Parts: sequence; structure tokens; C-alpha cells
Amino acid sequence: MAPVKVTKVLCIGAGYVGGPTCAVIALKCPHITVTIVDLNQARIDAWNSPDFKLPIYEPGLEDVVRQCRGRNLFFSTDVEKGIQEAELIFVSVNTPTKKSGVGAGFAADLNYVELATRQIAAVATTSKIVVEKSTVPCRTAESMRTILEANSKPGCHFDILSNPEFLAEGTAINDLFKPDRVLIGSLQTEEGKDACAALAAIYANWVPEAQILTVGLCAFSSVNALSAICEATGANIDEVAHAVGYDSRVGPKFLKASVGFGGSCFQKDILNLVYLSESLHLPEVAAYWRQVVEMNEYQKRRFSKRVVDTLFNTITGKRIAVLGFAFKADTGDTRESAAITLIRDFQSERAFVNIYDPQVVEEQIWLDLDEASPAVPLENIKKQVKICKSALEACRDAEAVVIATEWKEFKEIDWSEVYSTMKKPAFVFDGRLLVDAEKLREIGFRGHHHRPPCSLMKIR
Ligand code: ADP
Repeated sequence: MAPVKVTKVLCIGAGYVGGPTCAVIALKCPHITVTIVDLNQARIDAWNSPDFKLPIYEPGLEDVVRQCRGRNLFFSTDVEKGIQEAELIFVSVNTPTKKSGVGAGFAADLNYVELATRQIAAVATTSKIVVEKSTVPCRTAESMRTILEANSKPGCHFDILSNPEFLAEGTAINDLFKPDRVLIGSLQTEEGKDACAALAAIYANWVPEAQILTVGLCAFSSVNALSAICEATGANIDEVAHAVGYDSRVGPKFLKASVGFGGSCFQKDILNLVYLSESLHLPEVAAYWRQVVEMNEYQKRRFSKRVVDTLFNTITGKRIAVLGFAFKADTGDTRESAAITLIRDFQSERAFVNIYDPQVVEEQIWLDLDEASPAVPLENIKKQVKICKSALEACRDAEAVVIATEWKEFKEIDWSEVYSTMKKPAFVFDGRLLVDAEKLREIGFRGHHHRPPCSLMKIR
């Protein structure tokens, strides 16, 4: 049985996450002894420096450390002693982006987490709650569990919690003092829930209980889906999380302006989060996430509406070329692809559609279109839709071109030639803001440069 009232906390890793987080815990929980350990002697020396020349700078951090250091906050390189004494251990070691191997350039390197976890298993002689405290992928907690279970000594039980970090560098202390919410994930077993309650009780010393959300570990796929999207789109997850956390109304507007999404996982994860929020009686949270999905649909609808509006309010009987069918470039994957929705909308307006995609196979396109319009027999769809072998073929005699996937080859098309084969006026709707609008306008194209750019979406 997990200890319900924790009095000894250890943090492995005295970096940007572990340092400020555990210093604030020490400040807000004078009854808890907090020890922060690190392998890096110079870093620990800096945390312990008499003139408070701390190894990281965060506004307010020095003040926190001045109040607690030597009282109930200690810095040390003795990792083993720390592990032995602690009841609850935060693991906040570095998770750098992998430089080589599978996922290089975007996946987190979990090597340090693994080593720290193995050390806990090797050293611990009593049961512990182990908290994964970082912005690393959801399978981390699962890997930690596997390692701890396989290596624990008899009589030692480990409960693994996930407690993702939302603080932004530069405002860490403020973020920690007034978090919009704290997320704690655990297995939904008795022990898992007890461990969750023990960590929640620590935060409850300063965070209103309504803001401490305890969820099953599966919910974290959604949080991590967000970070995955951020990695893929170049957004900074800290900034996104900060924006969302600071004022949840910022979220939908924020996503509307730029992020958007496609692909098979994200929507599913978000919907899962909606479901979870509802079952946890958090209607505002559920509504917020549902809005994210709706906003994405709105982006697509807005786009097809704009095509219709621009083509003099009707596209009936007109031919529209859709370049790209995959949900993103360099893949043949079409799941949740925006092109499917757009083409369905065009079909229902009784336009003719020419499709060209460099990778997606013909059968897949028919499958997707058939599924998107269950009420329309496939042979009728085939009367309206043609699959072409090149972009040029797709654009011939069309009145408008829609770029639905950011394939590089669409950038390199001879747009003057395309223009010469199209009906006039020829329109282009660049859903990916891929081609040079100015150049197209010089050629004679109309369309997307008359209004603010309407980016269909930026996707993973
Ligand atoms: P973050 O920004 O995620 O906090 P940092 O790189 O700032 O990451 O800090 C991670 C810290 O974890 C480093 O100071 C590193 O020395 C420390 N560390 C890594 N592995 C271990 C380990 N096994 N035991 C103790 N400290 C570790």
C-alpha cells in the first residue's frame, strides 16, 4: 500500500524542470523534505553556492531557494542515498532529442530516463512512488514500469505516475505557483489511485483541488499528441502549453490561426480526451477539446465555402483540380486527410473533380471517397471524379486548382503551362500556402491573394 502522506521527496535531475518544480514544492510544503540530486557535481555546487549563483536563471527562483535551502530543501550528488530515503521520486533527467537512430531529429532520447530508472530499481529497498516528470512521450511511464517491475527486490513495490510538465522557461516559478491545472496519470488500480492521491495531496498544499486532474494513463496520449504536433509544426510545446494553460479560451483561437491538424491519431486522441473529460465530470475541459476538433472541421468547411464563393457562388458543372490527396506530403497515408472533406463538399455542389496525388493509389482514393459519401453509390461518384496521372493532366480545362497537400513537386510545376491549359479566369486556392502567390498572380491566376491567406492547415 502506497504511503498516503509523503514526507520525503527526491528529485533526480537538477535541471530546468526538476530544480524549479521541487524548489517550489519545498517552499509550499514545509513538512516535506525535498532532496534534489544530480550526477553533475558543478551543477549541484552551483545550487549550493553561498552567494546563490544558481545554475539556472528563472525570475523568482533565487528567492524560493533562499527561503528553503538548508531548511527542507537539499542539493546533493549522492543519488543512492537519496533513492533509499525517499518515499516519492520525481524523475526529471534530460530527454534530449535523438541525434541518431529511429526517430532522430524529433523523438526524445529516453536513455537517461532508462538509466535513472534502472538505478532506482537497483538501489531501492522499500516501496516507492516514481513520478515521470518531463515532457517525454507517454510510453515512458510504461517503460519505467516494465524496468522497475522486472528489477525490483522482494517486498519492494513501485507505483508509476505520469505528471507532465507545463511550465515555460522564463515564467517557471509563476507557472508553478499558479498552474492552470496539474495533470497526474496513474494506472486505475487501487495502488495506482492511492499513489495518485499521494501526489495530488502534495500539490493540494497550494493548488486548488479542482485544478488537480487525475486521469488514467491513456489520457496522456492526447497531451503527447499535442507535443507531437508541436514538434512537427515547429511550434514550441512550452509556449503552446503556456498559452493554453494561461487562458483556455486562447486555445481554439490559437489553433484556428495556425496549427490545425490531420493524420490518423490526433483527432482520435482529442476525441478520447473529450470522452475522458466528460467521464471525469469536467464539462468545460471536454467542451474545450471538442472545440479544437470542431475548429479543424470549420477550417475545412471555410475553405470549400471560399472556393464556391470565389467561383461566383456556384461550382455546379465546373471542373476543379485537386492536387494532393495524402494527409501530408511524403506519405501515401490518407487518414483524416483534408482532401477527402473538400472533394466531398465539391461533389455535393455537383462539380467535377480531377485528382492527382504522387503517392496515393487509385483504389485508396475510391475507398475514401466512397466512405465519405455513404449515400452516394460509387459509380455515381466515379461519374464526377477523375483520377489523373499528373498535375498538368488534372488541371487541364479546370476552372480552379486546389492545393490540398504540400507535395514538393507542386512547388516545381510549370505554373505558366498549367495556366495556359485552364479555363479563364483561372483560380488557385493554395491550402498549404505552398506556392509563391505573387508569381501566380503575375501569370494571371486569381484566387488566394485577394484576401488574407487561408491556410487549410499545417499538419504533422
Ligand atoms: P530539463 O530541462 O528536462 O530539466 P536538463 O538537461 O536541464 O533537463 O536537466 C537534466 C539533469 O539531469 C542534468 O543536470 C543531468 O546531469 C541530470 N541527470 C541525467 N541523468 C541523471 C541520473 N541518472 N542521475 C542523476 N542526474 C541525472
